[in-house]
Amino acid sequence: PTTVERIAAGEVVERPASVVKELVENSLDADASRVRVAVESGGTESIRVSDDGIGMDEQALERAVRQHTTSKIRDIDDLEAGLATLGFRGEALHAIGAVSRLTITSRPRDDSADRGAKITVEGGDVGTVQPAGCPVGTTVEVEDLFYNVPARRKYLAQEATEFAHVNSVTTAYALANPDVAVALEHGGREVFATTGRGDLEETVLDVYGREVAEAMIEIDGAAVPEGPLEDISGLVSHPETNRASREYLSTYVNGRFVTADAVREAVIEAYGGQIASDRYPFAVLFVEVDPSLVDVNVHPRKMEVRFADAEGVREQITAAVEAALRREGG
Ligand code: ADP
Ligand code: MG
Repeated sequence: PTTVERIAAGEVVERPASVVKELVENSLDADASRVRVAVESGGTESIRVSDDGIGMDEQALERAVRQHTTSKIRDIDDLEAGLATLGFRGEALHAIGAVSRLTITSRPRDDSADRGAKITVEGGDVGTVQPAGCPVGTTVEVEDLFYNVPARRKYLAQEATEFAHVNSVTTAYALANPDVAVALEHGGREVFATTGRGDLEETVLDVYGREVAEAMIEIDGAAVPEGPLEDISGLVSHPETNRASREYLSTYVNGRFVTADAVREAVIEAYGGQIASDRYPFAVLFVEVDPSLVDVNVHPRKMEVRFADAEGVREQITAAVEAALRREGG
């Protein structure tokens, strides 16, 4: 790839966690019921995401790694409905292939092929499709991220920090998709695995463990005042089980995992003085809002969103969380 292409790829791919995000979204788009994320050295050495989704035949594999050939955006309505459509850019795999050694092995679910196939891309050089024995579904392996972009590789954080980001993204998708069995492995050790049985509380237990899960407090939708948000639901931590990281705040706007300053600030405010300086609350919040009242294009590569009426959103969320904490004597 040219220098310009590498820089462009670096915009899409910031760090191992951004690769994981794109690959997990692809697996979910592909109707997977199981998704396994396995990384080595925080993802800096290798990232493998495998699923049992619809898979790809040989032609689809070729297309998947080319630029701008798969975009699902057809018109301006699709753009505006951006939040509803996972993975709308059609360039993630291309960008990842430009800055790593990428191998995709896949076999379609629909029996159109009696075996699988694989394709390799090394620093942007696309190899030929080869036959491969594999189960139905797709496995994407990304090795040596940024091996050909030393300036980027240098900026990767310590393995533990990169893994913390990978963990946070994988956790977010696991929580947002209780009906999908999501597992995360680091260095061959399983970090968590959800059952995929469809229950949010069970999924919280799978991800955070029993002590935390049992102390989670449910938001009561009836306690939410009128405002820009049509609905708020989810679980918040009991103040006594608050943890020392703000990565545990998972917000979903219309079903999509996002970050939103208004939401984070509102939750923290609801806990008021009950937060020790190094103990953050954690929460899994699902909010529904008219898509025209939320800007998803603050930064096209990131997950940050902004609400038209941020103040109104803040008030609603603070009130809902406060009501839940009061009910549980938190
Ligand atoms: P986008 O998801 O925006 O279309 P990507 O580069 O992420 O762009 O993926 C390109 C295409 O490759 C997808 O549109 C999809 O057709 C195919 N694809 C990628 N990952 C998978 C997967 N895990 N299972 C099936 N198809 C996939
Ligand atoms: Mg995608």
